[in-house]
Amino acid sequence: MIRIIPIQTAYKTKIERQEKLSGLKFKCHGSCAFIGEDVSPGCYECFHSDAYCCGFMLGRDVGLPDVCNKNCVYCFKPHLVQQNYAVPSGWRVQDVGKDAARKFLIAEKDKITTHCKMQYYQFTGFCEPLFYLPVIEQWMRFFREEIDPLMGTKGWAKIYTNGTLLHLDNILKLKDMGFDEVRIHPGASNFSKEVYDNMRLAVKHIPTVTVETPSWPPHRNKLFEMLPIIEDIGVKHLDICQIEIYSAEQLEKIVKTVGDVELYQAFYPMMDDGGLVEDIMREVLDKGYSYSVIDCNGFVKQSKNALTGNSYWSVLAGKYPPEWEKQRHDRRLKCDRNEINPEKSSEESRYSVDDIVSLLKENA
Ligand code: SF4
Repeated sequence: MIRIIPIQTAYKTKIERQEKLSGLKFKCHGSCAFIGEDVSPGCYECFHSDAYCCGFMLGRDVGLPDVCNKNCVYCFKPHLVQQNYAVPSGWRVQDVGKDAARKFLIAEKDKITTHCKMQYYQFTGFCEPLFYLPVIEQWMRFFREEIDPLMGTKGWAKIYTNGTLLHLDNILKLKDMGFDEVRIHPGASNFSKEVYDNMRLAVKHIPTVTVETPSWPPHRNKLFEMLPIIEDIGVKHLDICQIEIYSAEQLEKIVKTVGDVELYQAFYPMMDDGGLVEDIMREVLDKGYSYSVIDCNGFVKQSKNALTGNSYWSVLAGKYPPEWEKQRHDRRLKCDRNEINPEKSSEESRYSVDDIVSLLKENA
């Protein structure tokens, strides 16, 4: 049975759960709820408006079929399920695609408000992205050779994978392509030993390895078993995402599996996890594990989509958390570095309360 929770109840329940979790931290107007030192830099783009995400939904965005070697109940959309897939050998990035990216990014750079636009290169999809390495390789070459210099900043490149094909050969290819982060979804393989072994290899070669897996109630026990394992492996960040409902097919499969489903409407319809994410965070805090955990709930997606348009941060230029600013400024390419003085720029953009009120009024 599907029960729709009014947003008032969804917010109230979320806030009550958060209030009971001592040790929970917040950044970015409360949308970023996490524990640990800081979330992955790959998450920053969801929370500040001076970020631009150049994201691909493989294979549909590149004219290829969506193929995955898994078939998770909660998968967003139907896709081909095959154990093997190869990108056609003649596949090439089209000039029209590159032109669009250049045009778009130049326009984005012009909208900059904090002297430092940070771009993110993201490869995901209703598929297993590692099936599409020849596509990724070509785009990453273009991003590193052309887009990084164009933007003046080394973009943060991240790829999502269910981890089953993340063997040494593929890890080294990702490293050579200049990936900053790999996000691994162990839930897809029911937390298989093979995926944990691959994670162990990945942490040796990729600067940031994050586990991103949903707060899917049937995985509860496996999620708790995972916590000490990823600590031992050396994973830096854990992203627990609530399940976003994208399609009727997905919802039907979920209801068949779990029976009762509670949904609330954020930017997407979201499946409430009954407090599973807070329970996981509590366990991580109690056991003193070193990785951060972010609660990627529906309000995060709401925030992300709001920030792509108007936001008070655009109005107040430069009010991002200082450690996030530093990360972006540290990724400025050398030729631009002299132009940048992050302390000065944040000083310059500091407003008095009266300024803020009048700015908000002007922009209301
Ligand atoms: S691994 Fe990802 S793309 Fe593949 S079935 Fe699961 S959720 Fe879908």
